[in-house]
Amino acid sequence: MLAKSGEPGLPIDLLVTQSHYVFVKAKVLTSEISNGVRVAVLLKADWMDRAKQNAAVDKLNHTLRMVGYPEEFLRNWTILDQLYAKIELKRTFTETLRTIDQSNSWINLQKLLIRTRNNPYYPTDLTSANAEMIRYRNYDLVIPAAYLQPPILYAGNLDIVNYARLGASIGHEFIHGFDIFGKDVGKVGKPLSWRTNVTQSNYNARKYTLVDLYNSFSSPINSVDGQRTLNENIADNGGIRAAYLAFHNFMSRTGYRIKLPGLEEMNEDQLFWLVAAQKSCTRHPKLADPEHAPLRFRVLGTLMNNPDFGSAYNCPLGSPMNPWIKAW
Ligand SMILES: [Zn+2]
Repeated sequence: MLAKSGEPGLPIDLLVTQSHYVFVKAKVLTSEISNGVRVAVLLKADWMDRAKQNAAVDKLNHTLRMVGYPEEFLRNWTILDQLYAKIELKRTFTETLRTIDQSNSWINLQKLLIRTRNNPYYPTDLTSANAEMIRYRNYDLVIPAAYLQPPILYAGNLDIVNYARLGASIGHEFIHGFDIFGKDVGKVGKPLSWRTNVTQSNYNARKYTLVDLYNSFSSPINSVDGQRTLNENIADNGGIRAAYLAFHNFMSRTGYRIKLPGLEEMNEDQLFWLVAAQKSCTRHPKLADPEHAPLRFRVLGTLMNNPDFGSAYNCPLGSPMNPWIKAW
């Protein structure tokens, strides 16, 4: 009955949550990727003035992260009972449906109103297999339980795979907080002005470079609109960079090294980019929705635009995969 009313609801969502281990892992990874974004802003984004760097980091620190599922429901089921207390079994089916609709309206209102670290009201269903930066909630990050499943994440997965794939996806969502819409919103939802200094013009210069790069992928059989896909391309490029920085931090912190069977000649940096690109293997390389470039170009764009890829694979500066001009 709940599903019929368009709201699967937390009781059903919680049934699909899997081992606690993967959620702990995902939370740690989210924190490390956030730190990767922080490092990228403070140490790599020298085109931003110090005030804007600090404002960006401040916003990042205030980003509410909802990863996996609201744990307090598993600690305290009375909260769950309270959540659905407004549903009553009435004399007729129609009357009962009305109480469900009223309950759903109330729950949806809580999703909008309550922003705490341990928010029991995730803005998306836990069964949604998609990580998301929720713009209308002042850029809260939600990574629902259903997204954290094989092949995305599972116990025993290689760390390099976690950083290069899930890490890049988490980074993608964090960077949406700084895309062409997100960059104008501060930590508590107030407008963030960029107009008073050169940071805005630097941002624009990089934006147009990215538009040109993705426009250049167009061919008679494949069209790519650099302007229309700009937001997603910004997120892709910044996200993989944050994941790469987090991976390097992880390697220096733990001494992590890896060789893969059959690819023993490849070092960790080369493997990182290979694994990241492999995530986008598809049987339909030309398909894309209006906001995303086809997967082939999402990979090529992020690799061409990142000097660390060029270094890892010894691509000379000025060669096709390591062009002179890069956006970020
Ligand atoms: Zn996106």
